[in-house]
Parts: sequence; C-alpha cells; structure tokens
Amino acid sequence: MDEGATQAVEWGDWLTLPNPLGLHARPAAILVAQAKKFKSDIRLWRGDKEVNAKSVVSIMGLETQKGDSLRFKAAGLDAAQAIQVLSDLLLQGSGESLQELPQAQHRPLQDAGMPAHQASQLLTYGHSLTGVSASPGLTVGRLFQFRKASNVVLEWADPSALEKSVVHERAHLTKALQVATAQIQTIMASKNQSAEHAILHSHVQLMQDPDLWGLALQQIDLGKTAAFGWQSACTLQAQNFLNASSALLRDRANDVRDVGQRVLDVLLGVSSAAIDLPYPCILVTDELTPSDTVALDRSKLLGFCTVGGGATSHVAILARSYGVPAVCGIDPHALDLLSGSWAVLHGTQGLLFDSPTDLQLSAARSQMDLLQAQNQSDQLAAKTNAVTLDGQRIEVAANVRNAQDTHEALALGADGVGLLRSEFLFEGRMDAPGEDEQAQAYQDVAKALGLTRALVIRTLDIGGDKPLAYLPMAKEDNPFLGLRGVRVSLDQPPLFRSQLRAILSAARYSQLHIMFPMIATLEELQEAKSILAQEQSLLDAPPVAVGIMVEVPSAALLASRLAQEVDFFSIGSNDLTQYTLAMDRGHPKLAHKADSLHPAVLKMVALTCEGAQQHGKWVGVCGAMASDVLAVPVLLGMGVRELSVSVPAIASVKACINRLDLATCQALAKEVVEMGSASEVRKRLLKFMEN
Ligand code: PEP
Ligand code: MG
Repeated sequence: MDEGATQAVEWGDWLTLPNPLGLHARPAAILVAQAKKFKSDIRLWRGDKEVNAKSVVSIMGLETQKGDSLRFKAAGLDAAQAIQVLSDLLLQGSGESLQELPQAQHRPLQDAGMPAHQASQLLTYGHSLTGVSASPGLTVGRLFQFRKASNVVLEWADPSALEKSVVHERAHLTKALQVATAQIQTIMASKNQSAEHAILHSHVQLMQDPDLWGLALQQIDLGKTAAFGWQSACTLQAQNFLNASSALLRDRANDVRDVGQRVLDVLLGVSSAAIDLPYPCILVTDELTPSDTVALDRSKLLGFCTVGGGATSHVAILARSYGVPAVCGIDPHALDLLSGSWAVLHGTQGLLFDSPTDLQLSAARSQMDLLQAQNQSDQLAAKTNAVTLDGQRIEVAANVRNAQDTHEALALGADGVGLLRSEFLFEGRMDAPGEDEQAQAYQDVAKALGLTRALVIRTLDIGGDKPLAYLPMAKEDNPFLGLRGVRVSLDQPPLFRSQLRAILSAARYSQLHIMFPMIATLEELQEAKSILAQEQSLLDAPPVAVGIMVEVPSAALLASRLAQEVDFFSIGSNDLTQYTLAMDRGHPKLAHKADSLHPAVLKMVALTCEGAQQHGKWVGVCGAMASDVLAVPVLLGMGVRELSVSVPAIASVKACINRLDLATCQALAKEVVEMGSASEVRKRLLKFMEN
C-alpha cells in the first residue's frame, strides 16, 4: 500500500457468496478488474484468511464456495467507494451467470461428439489402467513415453553486490515476461480455434498476476536469482491450487506450471521445444501443459494420457476440440509401460489397456472401424438436408454465441442458427456493449449465414440468476422466479429498445427471427411485441419473424393462445425441465435428476406442439434436449420440425433423423408420454435406438 498508514481503513459488511462454484477464474478476474480501478490497497477476507483483491490467483486460492461469508477491507483515499462497488459486484455474482456449471460436469457425452448409443457400450481389451475420461473416442497405437528435462536453476544471484543484483534480476524478470507474452501472442496468431485462443489468453493474464510477481520479487529482493524467485513463486501458487478441494481449481495448477515453465525457459535462455512425437502414437506423460498440447504434431497424435489433470483441465478442453481420445488422472503405473509397446486407449471409458493380445487388438480395431464408419456417415449426412425415411425435412440449426461459432457450425453442416444467445455479448465485462457494437456483432453472424439461412436472435436473457455487473438489480430471494429474461428487458426499456434496433440492423443480411426468452404470460408477449413494432416503425425496418422461447410451464399450457401472436415457438428444454420439475438445473444434487425426458416435461412439449399446430406455426427445440439423439425421435413424433443443437452434435443429430420414420416416431411419442418416470422413458428409447 503506497497511500500511507495514516489513511482510513474501511471494512465492508460480511456478504454471502452467490456463485455456485465459488470465485473461480472468471468471476475472480472480473472482481480483480474492478478492484484495480481503485488506488487503495484492497483485501478480501474469508474467515480469518485474507488475500489481495487485485490478484486472480490469490482470490482463487481462497477456495470459496457458494454461501461463504466474505468481506472486503480497503485502505486508501478511495477505500469507502471501493468497498461499496466491490461489495455490490460480489453480491451480483461478479459478472457470472449464477447457473453455469463447467461443461465437463454436466455435458452429456454425445455433446462431446459421441452418440449416446456408442457411449453406453462398455468394451474391454485386456488389462486396464484407470483414469478420468477427458476426451471421448477409441484408438489403438504404440505408446510414447515423454518426460520433461528439469532445468538447473541457481538460487543466489551475486551475494557480494546485493543492490546491483536486485535491480538486474528484477529487470531480467520483467524482460522475460515481455518475451513470454510475445511468444504466446505469436502462437495465438497461428491458431484459429476459439478454445485455443481462450486458454492462451488466460495464460497471459496469469503471467501478469500481481501476487505471483510479488512472491517472485520478494525472493529477488533477498538476493536470489530471477529464475529461482519466479520458479518458487509458481511452485507455491501451483501447490495452493493442488491443495484445493475443488477439481476445477486443482486443474488450474497445471496452468500456473505452464506459464511458470515458459517464463523460466526465457530466463534460463533455453528453448521451450515442442514435444517431438517420433511416430504416430499414444502419448503417455506425467503432465501436459496447454502450451505443450497446442504445439503437438497432430498428424502423429493418436491420443494421450496423463497422470495429472482432470476432465475440467484446459488440456482436456483442447483434446475434445481436436477430436482425439484422452484420459487424465491415469494410474501412475502407466508411466512404467514401454515406449513402442501396443496399447488401446478408450477415451470414453477413461481407460488405457496395456499389453493387449493380438485378438484384443484386432477387436479394438474393428470397433474403431465401426465407430469411424458411423462418424463418417454422420459427417456425410451433415452435408445434406436431414430428411426422415418418409420424407419429412427437419431443420438442424446450431446454438451459437458469435460469428466465429457460426462459421464453425456451417462448416459442420448446420442449416442455420436456431439460437444466438445474445447475452454472451453482455456478460463478463464492466459496461454494456453500445448499440453499434451490438449491431456489428449481429450483422457479422447474419452475413456469415447469408440470405438463404435462418438466424434466430434471442433478446437478452439475463436476470436474477445471470446478473450483469453494470446493471444493478435488487437482491431477490428466488432469482429463478424473479426478474429474468424478457422481464428484465421490459423493466429496462432503453436497454431493450437499443438491443432491438441493433438486432433489426441485421435484417437485410439473413432471414432474421427475433425471439423473446422466458415468456410466461400473454401480456409480457404483447408488451414486448408492441415495443418491437414501435422500433420497427421508427426505423422503417422490414417485418421480421417473431417467436418466443417456451421454457415456462405457463407458456406451454397457453400455447394455443400464444401461437396466435407469434410466428414460431422454440422450446427451451433446459428451463422448461427445471420449472416443470421444480428442480434447479445447476443444483449439484438435483441437476442429474432434472431430466428433460421426464414424461411431465414431454407432456409440456406435446402441448406446445399441439397449440402451434392449431395455428399453423412451427416448433423448434433449442435446449440441450435437441442435441440428445435419444430424444430426437420423440421430439419429431410430437411435431417438432427444427432442432437447434450444440455445434459438435450437428452430424449425429442429422444422421439420426435420416434413420427415422415419422409414423413410428409418432407412435413412440404417444407411448413414452404416458410413462411414469424418466428412467422408464430412457430404457424404452435405448431399446428403440438399438433396433
Ligand atoms: C433453455 O432454457 O433450454 C435454453 C435454451 O436457454 P438457456 O439454456 O440459455 O437458459
Ligand atoms: Mg432458458
């Protein structure tokens, strides 16, 4: 603190942390960004532990959980204001959607590119070593063991000239940071995947963390070398993460080691060479960093397993985006297997089979051929329209956040965009995007699609459970039942109107559809439509299709009336499930029971379709249910004609539709909707898919 000890010290009130996963990287980064705007020294307290509120790693290291009591303490000229702003931000979720869970915890396997019927098969190829599934798929190949060489790091700089050495080592560390940052930026420029970009970007932030630097500088000031100071700071910080009880935080230790190694290599003047894969192989190593992974020669990478890491690690995210099977947290005996020996890696099951017999190898190869043939025919199916055996065309669109997602979706065969979640433009930032910025973003997506494809833009879907840092809203006892979705828009007309104008600007580039989220009453819909009509007439904008998300039971029950007011419905099965079953979709103990295939939810879908049919309107589904191949026949049988799915699911959903017969689906839908439980429905559907 450089403001001096005489300045006021302010304490904030104890606050209850609302974030379901505590202050992990993203909310911590938002708090830190805000804290850095103040000059005061700011600390965040949990119990009797305090950390620097301007350091992401330190906040993450507090290992907070939902419901924890936290408070801020600040010392400096702007202390009182800092406490006020940060306390409000923390109570609103620190810019985080309060229902989000990390993908790996709740994403069904088929969402990662593996159809459910493949994922459910349990196969064995001999003696197995167990780990955690990080990326699905099956591969056969020779193992390649890789160990990192350790660098020799001198502890002491020049003990005879402490002052000089401190200045020199500090400058050395600063320079190394600049070089390492430039290295990452060069790698980013050569990569075009959004997963790679996001991870590398977070590494740049991590390298600049003031607490990490503070720890290193403390050592340097004692006369140690920059390399020693930096290495011990990173080791300590990684250890803090490793001691965390949350898997998400433990997985971040690897990111600290990764940036630590990169800067250390620069300090020591050694090149951080990529791992050289000598032949097409299954890579086995104690730990892979995201930087190692990004630099691997993918033409020789059949799959990999690591002793460290978990399903939520950045390395796992990269493996999934590359489509290679991967197992993390593998039994350390894997490190004793011989390089060059044959093995079978089952990413889906999280198993490595060592020393398979010839018979087992050929069984694994046949299974791979089968899966590959299935995938290839799925990919082929993705290039053409999805049509049932009895000739019904079904639109398979994609759920996207931006133009980049849209390009990826189109390349994978999407027919259009069935859900543009516009809130992605508003989240994770400290101020609202301006109208021009929004217009540009919507137009970019529209231009990517062109005039022949549909673009469904959902208006802002935020609220009590998905707060925005810059949109103060009163605390609610039941945020899921409070100001959410269209209710926020109606409560904040200037925000709503400016978003509508920005959306309308995309009308001339694609087949624009505007969709209102969380409609629960006829009045809400009429009010939203009337504001839209006013903006259209002020702009002299062309008419556009208008629809609603059906995600509240009242909307499903009122479907036949609401259908008279709209051009289409899109069923938000995620919310429709949570509201029908009264089960919080993000609740750790309930989320797995909140099954969209519950007959009560299916009845809501059926009602929606019946209501729409009465007035000749089309129904789509854009919740996760649309991406579940098990659910597809039931949805088609009920009358759904558009499925808006996650990008990796496009091919398998299209292929699934091509194998279905609508009349059979209708009979199946009638049968399952009368069942008593989700498990009964699932059993029946699995049997249906096997035939
Ligand atoms: C849904 O509720 O199913 C939906 C698609 O909306 P979101 O998941 O964004 O709430
Ligand atoms: Mg929803």
